[in-house]
Amino acid sequence: MKTEAIKLPSGMEIEMRQITLREENYLAAASRSRKGSQERILVEVVDKCTLSVIEPGPNPEAKPGTKPKWDNMLSGDFFGALLGLRKLSYREGKEYEIELVCPNRGCNNRFGWVVDLDKDLVVKQLPEASAEALREGRPLTVEIAGKTVHYNLGMVKDLAFQEKLDKKFPGREMACMFRARISKVDGVDSADLMNWLDGEGKGPFSGEGLTSDDAEDLRQEFFRVDCGVDTEIEAECTRTQCRNVFRLDLPFDGILTPGRAQASKRKLRAGHDSSEV
Ligand SMILES: [Zn+2]
Repeated sequence: MKTEAIKLPSGMEIEMRQITLREENYLAAASRSRKGSQERILVEVVDKCTLSVIEPGPNPEAKPGTKPKWDNMLSGDFFGALLGLRKLSYREGKEYEIELVCPNRGCNNRFGWVVDLDKDLVVKQLPEASAEALREGRPLTVEIAGKTVHYNLGMVKDLAFQEKLDKKFPGREMACMFRARISKVDGVDSADLMNWLDGEGKGPFSGEGLTSDDAEDLRQEFFRVDCGVDTEIEAECTRTQCRNVFRLDLPFDGILTPGRAQASKRKLRAGHDSSEV
């Protein structure tokens, strides 16, 4: 079985092993049963294939020679590991085939599109100020709507926290996403944080909440401090009369199951462009 040293966006380096049929079976069963979100399932598979930390980088939770606890790792590093695992595991791993539907009304062409994981995705390294905060284990701060917001770098465990919040506060996804990373806001009781964010529910900020501009500033701030992989890609409709160019966020459904992607490709060829086969 192949193992490889994989460098992650924070500077951390880990050793991973190839994915096996057992994990492919696990992935298939987990997505069928729909237990937990797709991201959580991918975290589990990345965890199974992670052997040990080679170079810890700025994260004090990563210890050389031991297996990292993914919950305490940066989400940017997780995506780096996910893409690394795919490239390590499959012969044509850097080519990722996805199925797209042209968003052009009146076209809706369904076509296969190949993303080159090395060339088409931009890796963003961890900024030095973020690395320093991580090393010292302290939150970062930003002024939003006249208040000081203390928040953490994006971590894998935020996913689980956000899912819990989504269940508790249905229909308030944006506030849940922010809340999962905020440790405190000066002058706001921690029980009122959701209320401060979107003005919903009972509390001193009911009917107020952040403006869309404030929310955008906070989103940009989170993006600015994090490392990771920019997964926005550009695709072009394959229909000659259309050739519509559009941008989309890379779907991760088939990232660790090329077998199934191949099957859908065959289906696609057989069903659609039969004249070309
Ligand atoms: Zn089209």
